[in-house]
Amino acid sequence: MRRVLVAGNWKMHKVPSEARVWLAELKRLLPPLDSEAAVLPAFPILPVAKEVLGGSQVAYGAQDVSAHREGAYTGEVSARMLKDLGCRYAIVGHSERRRYHGETDALVAEKAKRLLEEGITPILCVGEPLEVRERGEAVPYTLNQLLESLRGVEPPAPEALVVAYEPVWAIGTGKNATPSDAEAMHRALRQALSERYGAGFGERVRILYGGSVNPKNFADLLSQPNVDGGLVGGASLELESFLALLRIA
Ligand code: PGA
Repeated sequence: MRRVLVAGNWKMHKVPSEARVWLAELKRLLPPLDSEAAVLPAFPILPVAKEVLGGSQVAYGAQDVSAHREGAYTGEVSARMLKDLGCRYAIVGHSERRRYHGETDALVAEKAKRLLEEGITPILCVGEPLEVRERGEAVPYTLNQLLESLRGVEPPAPEALVVAYEPVWAIGTGKNATPSDAEAMHRALRQALSERYGAGFGERVRILYGGSVNPKNFADLLSQPNVDGGLVGGASLELESFLALLRIA
């Protein structure tokens, strides 16, 4: 009942002209899908995504959004701009933004609200750093991050929100969480979402795993009952491995 989502987070890779060729190839080679595919490229690539993927089975979206609606905020990109470009999704609270750009839970919550106002689904990232896991505090840390990043956020429906569990130590390191560790965290996150928004919401909201997902480990992660897809960085950049992930899903 929860449709699997495979979302490729391209981070700061590819230029628009490369992306155009890549996305056209993706469309040409796309297998029949039961699951949902999405690409999340850098802002300048979004008009290309609209042109190439518009009306196709592949959704697209952004990696970030401004917490402001409009105004004198040099360098910022608003949710309304993303909406106009046809974005279905946008990541908020990625650990790279939390770490390198000082984003707080409160800022992430504001960003999620701006997206929901425009009918864009936030992909809200949470996850613990290594020292927290080593202290045995991964679950309480991540649940607190989830609830703080959702403070004052009221998604109209469970389909309007996606959560991504991305342990910081697993991102770009080749070390993924074990399927059972991921499942334990996802179960706890779902429970917290049920308590926050109601049991029906908790059952229907999608929770993705992210952190060194690749075609070798994806099937085992996805076989866990509370893992509803993947937020994939490195392995989403090569067409072959992204297609392999879609075939697994
Ligand atoms: P990775 O990145 O798949 O390269 O580990 C995942 C992410 O940061 O979303």
